[in-house]
Amino acid sequence: MSFSIAIDGPAGAGKSTIAKKIAKERNLIYVDTGAMYRAMALYLLRAGIAAQDSAAISEKCKSADITIQYEKGEQLVYLNGENVTPFLRTEEVGKMASASSVNGDVRKKLVQLQQKLAERADVIMDGRDIGTCVLPGADVKIYLTASVEVRARRRYDELTAKGENWDLEEIEREIAQRDHRDMTRDISPLRQAQDAILLDTSHMDIQEVVTAIIKICEEKCGWK
Ligand code: C5P
Repeated sequence: MSFSIAIDGPAGAGKSTIAKKIAKERNLIYVDTGAMYRAMALYLLRAGIAAQDSAAISEKCKSADITIQYEKGEQLVYLNGENVTPFLRTEEVGKMASASSVNGDVRKKLVQLQQKLAERADVIMDGRDIGTCVLPGADVKIYLTASVEVRARRRYDELTAKGENWDLEEIEREIAQRDHRDMTRDISPLRQAQDAILLDTSHMDIQEVVTAIIKICEEKCGWK
């Protein structure tokens, strides 16, 4: 039986930064499920499909072949054979990912892929529905969150560092909208699993969060 840690939470809570660090420290495979939804979104955007056109999304997603490979511990996402990793972390793609991830056909396809990955390896997987839907039997479940203001500031700093020009208030609005959409959709909405541990990172730095999660794993799973 493989081991798994599920980390869920809203955009900008620090899930991927934290999960990557724990993966490195504890030799786990980090699975970034948001990147898979983003790859699907990129595919739909390139095909000129509108975020509201659910019939077209259901049809088009069938021909997206999304696969994951690891190079020096980094997750690379391939879309129909092309490494699309460098194109995934833009606001445009994030927005489309949030809109198209409400689609049941998109979710079914990506959840299957995620479950297959977790069967084969010890993973730390982050997303919105990992503890509730993808890996309901995960050994440890964490629900990571922070205030909208703190998360918007983190996203703003990340985008600015990449040379993208954004208004902080606009990011805050986008994050609030994305939270709303992720939490109220019909299929697999973002919510804390009953057996997940809540960590509010608004006033914690990265290392404090990593230490807290490792401590939880030590207590729950006998990690030394
Ligand atoms: O985490 P990230 O911002 O990369 O995710 C992009 C979008 O993909 C999220 O806003 C969410 O709508 C969707 N997503 C999801 N389920 C997951 C991971 C991401 O619906 N497991």
